Formats: sequence, C-alpha cells, structure tokens
Amino acid sequence: MTSPNTQTIRCASCGNPMPAPVRSIVDAQQDPQGKALLISDQMNKFQCPNCGTMNVVDAPLLYHDATKEMLIAYVPMGVSAQQGKSDERIIGDLMNMLTANLPKDQFKAYMFNPKRALTMNGLIDQVLEADGISPEMMAEQRARVDLIQRMLQSDSPDAMVALIKDNDDKIDEQFMQSFSLMIQRVMSQGPQDMAQVMMSLQEALLEHSTYGRDIVARQERQQQLVQEVANDIESMDDNATRADFIQLALRYGNDDERLQALVGLVRQAFDYQYFQEFTDLIENAPEEDREEMNAIKDRLVSFTQMIDEQARQAMQQTTNILRQIVESPDPAAVLDANAHLVDDQFMAVLSMNIQEAQKHGHQEMADKLTDLYNHAVEMLRSQMSPELVMLNDWLNIEDDAELAQQIQAQAPQYGPDLLRLMDAVENMLKEQGQAQALNKLQSIRQIVAQAVQ
Ligand SMILES: [Zn+2]
Repeated sequence: MTSPNTQTIRCASCGNPMPAPVRSIVDAQQDPQGKALLISDQMNKFQCPNCGTMNVVDAPLLYHDATKEMLIAYVPMGVSAQQGKSDERIIGDLMNMLTANLPKDQFKAYMFNPKRALTMNGLIDQVLEADGISPEMMAEQRARVDLIQRMLQSDSPDAMVALIKDNDDKIDEQFMQSFSLMIQRVMSQGPQDMAQVMMSLQEALLEHSTYGRDIVARQERQQQLVQEVANDIESMDDNATRADFIQLALRYGNDDERLQALVGLVRQAFDYQYFQEFTDLIENAPEEDREEMNAIKDRLVSFTQMIDEQARQAMQQTTNILRQIVESPDPAAVLDANAHLVDDQFMAVLSMNIQEAQKHGHQEMADKLTDLYNHAVEMLRSQMSPELVMLNDWLNIEDDAELAQQIQAQAPQYGPDLLRLMDAVENMLKEQGQAQALNKLQSIRQIVAQAVQ
C-alpha cells in the first residue's frame, strides 16, 4: 500500500549522491521496520557512505496504528512553504494515500481527525507511550545508545575492553538489541569502516562481558543439541517414513528444544499428511496416552508455523536489502563491501527477482539484476577452493558424456581427497534437502571413485 519513496539526495557535507528511501507514511502493522526506524529516531535520516555525515530529509510523516486507533501527523517546519501547500492540505494528501485502498466500511471516526505532533521527538514519545514505554525507559535507552557510541569511539582495543568490563552490569539483552539494530543499519548504509569497528566491538562484547559469554555458551549448547538431533535423523533409515518421524517426535516428548530443532532441520517432513497420520495414531492410542500425544502434536504444529514465518521474514528482509543495493549508484561495489550478505537465500531472492522483472517486461531492471547476479556468482567462486569450483562446474554439466570426460581429465590430480570433500558436500546437500543436486553428486562420485583409483 505505501512503501518508501526512494530518491537520490546529495550529502550536505561532501556532495556525494546516495539513495534515500524516504517514508511519508508509517503503518505500524504493515511496516514494522518503519516503526522500528521511527522509535529509534532514525526516520528519514541517511548516513553518507562517503563521509559518514548524517543527512536528515525533512518530510511530512503520517503514523498509523490501527490496533491502537492511533493516527498522528507530523509536518516539519518549512515543508509547507517548500511545497506551497498548507500543513492541513499536506496531511490531507497523506490521509488520502493511506486510505486509498481501504474499503468504506472500515473507516473509523479516529481516521477523520489525525492528532498532530509538533516535533519528531513528540511523535516518537506518543508512539512509545502508547506501547507502554515510560520516559524513564526512554532515558535508559538513550544511556544505552550513548554507551555504545563511547565504546565505538574507543582509542584502542584495550580501551574498548576496559570500557566493556567497567560497564559489565549494563550489558544485557536490551543493550545487545540496541546494538544489533545499529549494526544492521550501518551494514546496509555504511560507512564501511564504521561497520568494521562495530564488528570488532561485537566480538569484544561476546568475549569480555558476562552477558556476552552467556550468549556464546547458549549458542554452543544450542549447536550441540541441533547436532544431536541431526545425528538422530541421520541414523534413521534412508527410506524413513512419516511414521518414523512421528516416533522420533514422541521420543523427544516435551523437550521443546529438540522438537523445534527437528522441525527446523527437516521442515518438509512435517506436511499435511504427517499431521493426518499423527491424528490417526492418537485416535488409536490408549486413552491415557492421548493427552500427551496431542500436546506434542500441537507443539509441532506451532513450530512449523513459527519456522515458516521466520523464513517469510528472512525472505522479506533479503528482498529489502536487495532493493537497497540495486537502487544504489554502484550495486556491484556495494555488494563487494557487504560480501557476508551473499548466501544461498540472497541468490535465490535475486534469481526470483530476475524472473519477475522478465515476466513483467522490465528489461532494464532484469539486465541490472542479472549483472548483479553474475557478480555475486564471481564473488562466491573467488571464496571457493579450486576443487569446489570444479565440483560446482561438474554439477552444472548436463551432458553425461561430457561430464565423464571432464571428470576423467580433472579428478586424478586431486586424488582420493576429492572423495572426502564430496562426502562433506553430500552431507550439506542432504541437510538442505536438495534432492536433485544430491542425485547428481552421487552419480558424479561413482565416476570420480574410478578416476582417482
Ligand atoms: Zn558525505
């Protein structure tokens, strides 16, 4: 309905042009990212990737939260003169945009009379207050941001560590949340040397604060547990049926962490038929077992929903990042500076967008995205060992005779080590449930085994 309107602005300090996705409407339900930007006081503020100056775009803003029946307008001073319209007229236009697609029967009284905020801070305070966040909590949040800034400006790594140790009691979940919001923003908008400093602060926080060490320990326990569940799955027969997966889930019983790891690892096993068979099994089970079995099944249902929702959000986030990259003046350079963003999901979203652009006849966009795709493939290849590049090439050869020829020509120089590498890749493909690539890899392995003997 209303998305940011990306314009190119010039940095007030160095004149560098940069993309600025300016929002005029924030709908708390449809645009949670917009709300997050607003309450962290980052709305319509853009840091210059060249010199680091924060550039503020003075745009009118309409904030809407249907669940709270809240509608607040903020028109910065000077905008009215600039647009040659009265404040009321500006707000009216935004109202029309907001409600353009709203059915008439969904209009409510509050929508005809937006409240006004006189300053951006006033708007933020009203939004936070409606969320039950008091002025004291806001002061604490400002103190957190202030502490993070001081840590980032440390003169030396030692000074950074000392500051962390001195403030150990202030480093908690909220602190880390504020920090990770800042990291996400700098990662996508730069400047890149700031991103570097933030990464080293993150490492230092995990190593030198009590809370950070707790996080690391928790992650290690979690990895251990996921590995154990993966081993359980691995030890099942290759032809494991849904019934086997039901038995495995029943064995985990009320161990939520294991159930969740199980769904996370083999989401595709938990389909409609799985739950159908589970229901049948419960109906035929002894009366005294049914309640517990039902509880396990319900938890599995909620875990599948949760994982689907996480996947959807991750996809949305990747799409947003991709859009920002494509709209920047030099997409390939932005990607180079953010190499960590290029993973399987990024590639999948990128190729989906290429298809979409082609389908709708947006050839220019399709070409731009294809260039970016090829660039990303090159980036991935440059990180791979020569054996992996070769293996990857083989997986893409469709002609069997040519494939055999290539393998016989190239494989011998790597010897039997190549088989071990292929086993590792095989495990990875299994975990990712990529059946097609797995098949191909297994047939390649047979030819390689002969070639390296
Ligand atoms: Zn600048």
